[in-house]
Amino acid sequence: MIIFDLACQHDHQFEGWFQSREDFDSQLASGLVSCPHCGSLEVRRVPSTVHLGRSDTQVDSPRRESPAAAPTVDQRAGALQAFRHLTEMLLANCEDVGADFAAEARRIHYVEAPERSIRGVATAEEYAELLEEGIEVFRVQRVKPGDLH
Ligand SMILES: [Zn+2]
Repeated sequence: MIIFDLACQHDHQFEGWFQSREDFDSQLASGLVSCPHCGSLEVRRVPSTVHLGRSDTQVDSPRRESPAAAPTVDQRAGALQAFRHLTEMLLANCEDVGADFAAEARRIHYVEAPERSIRGVATAEEYAELLEEGIEVFRVQRVKPGDLH
């Protein structure tokens, strides 16, 4: 999941959620991305991006694309805040199964347990195995308030 900060030609800013960068590109090319404020299809990305990762290389921290275009401190803080919000939302809506996460995710996938959102801890190996079995899992890093300046 990628959140792009977007803006239309009137500088209305909004967020778009996409599966991937390719997904964004194809939706943009198909005219499916429009400004929620004025409906304009002339939408561009503004440099401030948070990745929530499925791939190991992208889960460590909020990061942005386009290093050439340095965002302001405000934009960075906004991205971090969005990331923290999302993390808190996920945590609040999931049942905590702790270290049983991998086993419980499997039980839900194979309909041996009631379907629901869960969270917990899994090792990197367990995480990789779940993905290999086609089970929807996704990792977030806990953001401690002290990490945000
Ligand atoms: Zn607009």
